[in-house]
Amino acid sequence: MVFEIGRGGIVRSGGKRQRFGTAVLLACAVAASVAHAAPCRTSGSYASWLAAFEREAAAQGISQRAIAAAAPSLTYDQKIVNIDRGQRVFSQTFLEFAGRMAAAYRIQRGQQLIKTHAATFAHIEQQFGVPAPVIVSFWALESDFGANMGKYHSLSAIASLAYDCRRSDRFRAQLLDALRLIDRGDLVPDEMIGSWAGELGQTQMMPSEYNRYGVDFDGDGKRDLIHSVPDVLASTASYLHGLGWKRGEPWLTEVRVPMNLPWGQADLSTSLPRAKWASYGVTFVNGRPLPADNLPASLLLPMGRFGPAFLVYANFQVYLQWNNSLVYSSTAAYLATRIAGAPALVRGTPPPALSFTEVKEMQALLTHAGYDVGTIDGFMGLKTREAVKAVQIKFGLPADSYPTAELLAKLRGQ
Ligand code: CA
Repeated sequence: MVFEIGRGGIVRSGGKRQRFGTAVLLACAVAASVAHAAPCRTSGSYASWLAAFEREAAAQGISQRAIAAAAPSLTYDQKIVNIDRGQRVFSQTFLEFAGRMAAAYRIQRGQQLIKTHAATFAHIEQQFGVPAPVIVSFWALESDFGANMGKYHSLSAIASLAYDCRRSDRFRAQLLDALRLIDRGDLVPDEMIGSWAGELGQTQMMPSEYNRYGVDFDGDGKRDLIHSVPDVLASTASYLHGLGWKRGEPWLTEVRVPMNLPWGQADLSTSLPRAKWASYGVTFVNGRPLPADNLPASLLLPMGRFGPAFLVYANFQVYLQWNNSLVYSSTAAYLATRIAGAPALVRGTPPPALSFTEVKEMQALLTHAGYDVGTIDGFMGLKTREAVKAVQIKFGLPADSYPTAELLAKLRGQ
């Protein structure tokens, strides 16, 4: 992976997809209670776990040939488990992350690649309804266009995480799908190198997504998301289509907002017809009026009311399903608009972001005051933003969901 990011606006080392969030910790007792499931490390050795897993794979119809081919790679790697348990974390704001990731060379390279593969992209859009810049922005962010797909042996990584008790069920299902990829002839075990959390290929899909949405677009019989650019691009579009991408609709538009906006409306959970936003005085960033139509849109202020402003549409939910970190999703969606020709965003003058420690303190204070921030983890996730908005309303502050030093001081004084 080019970068390392996790949920809720955090950047961390891998495991970026929603279902691998740190909040989802499966207790061993739960995993062990699932009928016929292989146990995890507290209830047996790795060898016995693996034997049970291989029986389960066979019972699910995976061929002995595929199981035998994978067997030498299904080794336990404590290093992977250590990475998963000790995920180093550091937070970045949207402006920091977008500034780094939506770099000029990625925009130019993305535009160039759209020209190079123009015919392929045209067929893909026809079939899946996903435009080229959207696909290319994920290609850019996930692997720098295939240059950096990770260095870990996927089978070993996933097996290790499946044996470990934290998210045993989830990774065991991924491991079964990894074997299905081998069984189908898409990949051979030796070429299955990816992120430590098991993501594979040029857009870093997990084996289950790969198996479900992968497309053989170059017609060689294999769905090869490591080497085949047509397969990568079509499979990514197929996955986005599967997540609900709406053909012909925008995903994000930069806008200009008036300072007398009812700020409480600026929230992903609030969706209004674009005409309503126009009536509030929201315009395109260059001042042109918005179309007075009924297209549902939410106002996203990733850095609060003094920072950049975007209208986001139903398709933005697809980004949040790809990775439910708001910082990642906003950046990917913004990068796609840049590749599609939009100008660089207006940074505005947002107040300094709270530090990791301050966010954590604020979350604790909010929780103490009865607000639901999700996990007290120091990250500005969607739930924490909602709690911030609620308390801003209570304090009579502009409710733009963005916490400031002023807000923290007020909470401390409660
Ligand atoms: Ca192929």
